[in-house]
Amino acid sequence: MNTPSSQPQLFESHECPVVDGHRQVQRLAARIADVGGIPIHRVLPQRARRTVGAWCFADHAGPSPIEARQPGMRVGPHPHIGLQTFTWMISGEVLHRDSLGHVQEIRPGELNLMTAGRGIAHTEESVPGSTSLHAAQLWIALPFEHRNTDPRFDHYENLPHWVEQGVEATLLMGDYAGHRAPALAFSPLLGMDLTSRAPRALSLPVQADFEYGVLVLDGQLTVGSEIFVANEMAYFGCGIEGVNFDLGADTRVLLLGGRPLGEEILIWWNFVGHSREDIVQAQADWEAESDRFGPVHGYVGKRLLPPPIPWAH
Ligand code: MN
Repeated sequence: MNTPSSQPQLFESHECPVVDGHRQVQRLAARIADVGGIPIHRVLPQRARRTVGAWCFADHAGPSPIEARQPGMRVGPHPHIGLQTFTWMISGEVLHRDSLGHVQEIRPGELNLMTAGRGIAHTEESVPGSTSLHAAQLWIALPFEHRNTDPRFDHYENLPHWVEQGVEATLLMGDYAGHRAPALAFSPLLGMDLTSRAPRALSLPVQADFEYGVLVLDGQLTVGSEIFVANEMAYFGCGIEGVNFDLGADTRVLLLGGRPLGEEILIWWNFVGHSREDIVQAQADWEAESDRFGPVHGYVGKRLLPPPIPWAH
């Protein structure tokens, strides 16, 4: 669901923040962007924080109704390299098609994970008759050694699910408390949905070599005396043994974590590269309709084209 960023930016991985000798919880607010006709909240990347582990892009779409006469979300054929797109569906239905020939509807409680590797193209559109949309779509940067891996698409319907301290927990990526997510990962990562009907206090053991962020999708999160509302992320750095927070009534958050990337990545349009040359070549290949990406069959609509790269010449 992600679409063009307008500014070229060099994203560096970050050390964990300590301010005046004390670890700080950093507040990250989202900005609004338009994706395929749907307004979304984008919390990563931003100047104050580029990545959480290999999570390098975080969009929250909805919750929003889709009027019967409107087409909903329509994102035409566009390419990706160097990343995985991670789509976690909360309500509504979206149809994915890609240049490998996959045609897959994603429904609430399901995860789509598309590994772009050296190149893939895809489309995403609301399923006709779908009356709402609520989803999180994130990008995961592929480490340098896996940047040119074969493209693939995986759809997961059965995810580990349990009750954690009175809260519904669904494991989306990685390992936690003896549970293992089936999703394909190329670096040490954690993704977990936590949904609470009633107010609950959570104390979650975490890995000291990971950094963590908690993104609020609905409701209210409290960390110490700090309150975070929908479309805000509370960022916790590395080196801690546990994270403690309170969830308000009817609250849903995503706990995201990972080992700090430790590599510089460059994000331009729908590409994640490890050099400017990677990006320039990918863009030229897409514009030339190269076999590197291939066509997406069955989608009625135009291919998306990137803006010119300001630093390419
Ligand atoms: Mn995409």
